[in-house]
Amino acid sequence: MDIKQILDYQKQDFEIIKLERKLEESEDKKIYQEMRTVVKDAQNKSNNLEKEAGELIKQYTEMKKAYDAEVKACGEIVNKDPKSLKVEDLDKTVSKTNQMIESISLLEKKLMAFAEHVNSVLADFDSTRKRYNEARKKYSAHKQAYEAMSAKILPEIEKLKHEIKKIEDKMDPAFLQKYKQRRQDKVFPIFVPVVDKTCGGCRMELPSASLDKLKQKGFLECEHCRRIIYNA
Ligand SMILES: [Zn+2]
Repeated sequence: MDIKQILDYQKQDFEIIKLERKLEESEDKKIYQEMRTVVKDAQNKSNNLEKEAGELIKQYTEMKKAYDAEVKACGEIVNKDPKSLKVEDLDKTVSKTNQMIESISLLEKKLMAFAEHVNSVLADFDSTRKRYNEARKKYSAHKQAYEAMSAKILPEIEKLKHEIKKIEDKMDPAFLQKYKQRRQDKVFPIFVPVVDKTCGGCRMELPSASLDKLKQKGFLECEHCRRIIYNA
């Protein structure tokens, strides 16, 4: 195993990892992804509220129509010339009028409560639309910023990858595979020296049998952190 070559490879790869992390951990990316969820939720809510408001307005219009009809009917009775009524009908008319007035006042209360409900739904709809628009604006701005950063960083990564490929081609494929597997699992650095009989990565003490094996083979896989330990 050519340690110098491997460490050189790891050093160059670290430059790539740093750039990749910059993209992964980008605040703009985090924000635009969050905003995507906010936009979606607000959109769903505003669609539902729009439907609900439409339904409520329809119901309100029907209630109002019933109310107006009742008021009109009551007015017709009240405005009738009492002289044209027979005495026995007069009592009936008075009682009917009282009933109608009661029913009208009840309808009026219902209508008012209903109108309040309609207004609160409409206000909720307005604030949701506002939230939606703000989130959309924020989403676009941060996505654009992230894309601008990617456009700068991605070619840099490609360039570095092209350079380390030259070392990769000379490396032991088995080691390279181990390296790439651990890299994917976000283990870094991957090749570490033995430090005072411990793993140079996780500082786990190595049993003497393992140290013997390390001396023999020149490398050892840490059982704890899976890094590859080399004899420094
Ligand atoms: Zn370890």
